Parts: sequence; structure tokens; C-alpha cells
Amino acid sequence: MVSYAVSAPPQAHLDITGSDEKFPVRRIYCIGKNYVAHIREMNADERDPPVIFMKPADAVVKNGGEIPYPVFTNNFHYECELVVALKSGGYNIAEGDAFRHIFGYAVGLDMTRRDHQAAALAKGLPWEVTKSFDRSAPIGPLTRVEDVGVMESGHVKLKVNEQVRQDADISLMIWKIDEIIAKLSEQHELKAGDIIMTGTPAGVGAVVTGDVLDCSVDGLADMQVRVGAKAA
Ligand code: MN
Repeated sequence: MVSYAVSAPPQAHLDITGSDEKFPVRRIYCIGKNYVAHIREMNADERDPPVIFMKPADAVVKNGGEIPYPVFTNNFHYECELVVALKSGGYNIAEGDAFRHIFGYAVGLDMTRRDHQAAALAKGLPWEVTKSFDRSAPIGPLTRVEDVGVMESGHVKLKVNEQVRQDADISLMIWKIDEIIAKLSEQHELKAGDIIMTGTPAGVGAVVTGDVLDCSVDGLADMQVRVGAKAA
């Protein structure tokens, strides 16, 4: 038994639809530039390989939660995405074996300090400041793969205050889920508890205090979060 010098942080976790068990979050991997229409709206190169970045596990916010308007931004953006959770992993996973490692799926938000993204890109700096901040990863309840099947298509939709802002199909991903898992495992040893945010379709935009975000992917539990007052 380890004796910690300060109190140990709680294990970040996600709910699982139809279960009292929780899914412990180890790492949050994110894929950028994975839908052509979003690449175009960001004026990025359509032939670039997808970007890989991470968020801290404790950035998770559950369904029904509130995200305080973050410090250090004046352009706080939503990106609605399909989330994949892994029950196992390894290095160099073959595309044909990738689906064996999937625990389930959820809808999530890759919240972004958009004002710092262009500045970081222009200077060749890392994306941490724009992507990896507190409460930047709202994620809904996981649906087990046994209950929804292997997901290759389905509407992904985001509404802000009841108005549809993002509406696409996950079949439009440039890099499919099996390819993402294979690619990630070339660079990282994937493990149970890892989750992957698979990229956002077009229609990203800013939110302000008081806005309500409703996110859905066909076949999965919906998620709603509200933007709260500016974080102290
Ligand atoms: Mn994203």
C-alpha cells in the first residue's frame, strides 16, 4: 500500500448506460482534422494527416454538468465528436484487430480556446493551451459495443440553445476508427481506460455563459452541458 504525501486525486470516470459500473479514464487522445468540411472551414490543408493531441483525464465533465466559461480565452468553441473507449490495447495494433479493443462509444465535446489555436499554430507552438485545459472534455454515458454494434455510420449532431449547429455523419471521417486505433498504437501503448475523441465535423463556433449544448450520435445516449459563469 502506497502512502501518499498529499491526498491522491480521484480517478476520472465515465458513466455506462444500463450499468452501475463506471469506466475509469486513463488518457484522452484526440484526433484533429478528420472531416473534410471542418478542415475547409478552418482553412487547413485537406491532405495533411490528422493531428493527434491529448487532454488530461480530469478534464472530463459528465452529462448534465456545467462548464464554467474558462479563464484565458475570449473565443470558447464547441466541437462535437464521437468518442471511442478502449477495454484493452497494445502497440502496433493491426486495423483488422482494432475493433476487438473497443469497450464502447459516447458523444463528447472537444472544447477549445480557439483564440489561442491560430496563435500557437502561427508560432509552431504546441496545442496544450488551446485544447488541454480544465473541464475541456464533456463526455456522455458510454454505450457498450455489445449494445450498439461496431459503429461505422450514424448522425452526429450538436445544438446550441435548440438551434442545430453541427449535423453530419460519422461515416464521413477521413480516418476511420480502426485506422485511428492502428495509427495511435504506432506512437503510444494503448491501454484499457483510454478514450479517443475522433474529430469534429463542420459547424464549430463559439458559446457564451448561459448557452446550453445538446449533443447526440445515433444509437448513443445524448449529452447536455451548460456554459456557466466565468471560472474564478
Ligand atoms: Mn476536435
